[in-house]
Amino acid sequence: MKYPRIKDYPDSINIGFKTWRVRFVKKIEGGEEDWRGYCSEEDRTILIVSGQGRRSTYETFIHECLHAIEFEYKINISHKTIYELEAPLANLILGNLYSL
Ligand SMILES: [Zn+2]
Repeated sequence: MKYPRIKDYPDSINIGFKTWRVRFVKKIEGGEEDWRGYCSEEDRTILIVSGQGRRSTYETFIHECLHAIEFEYKINISHKTIYELEAPLANLILGNLYSL
């Protein structure tokens, strides 16, 4: 599986007809040390911690996109399920559909 590099990610993505920004940061301000990403619903921004490896970065991206989907489509997905879906969705998209 070929995971994208940081420079391959789009600056923004569309989720539920809304535009979300995608930003890479050194750490999540105000977050715990082990946070790999953050989904800010207030300003429709997905933050991803850089320097965590391509696979982990992509799975974090999918994880935060799932939070954004929860928000935009008003559906609840348990955090456990979001974690469980990270890798299968990453494999589905990168393995079958396209790579960034
Ligand atoms: Zn989460």
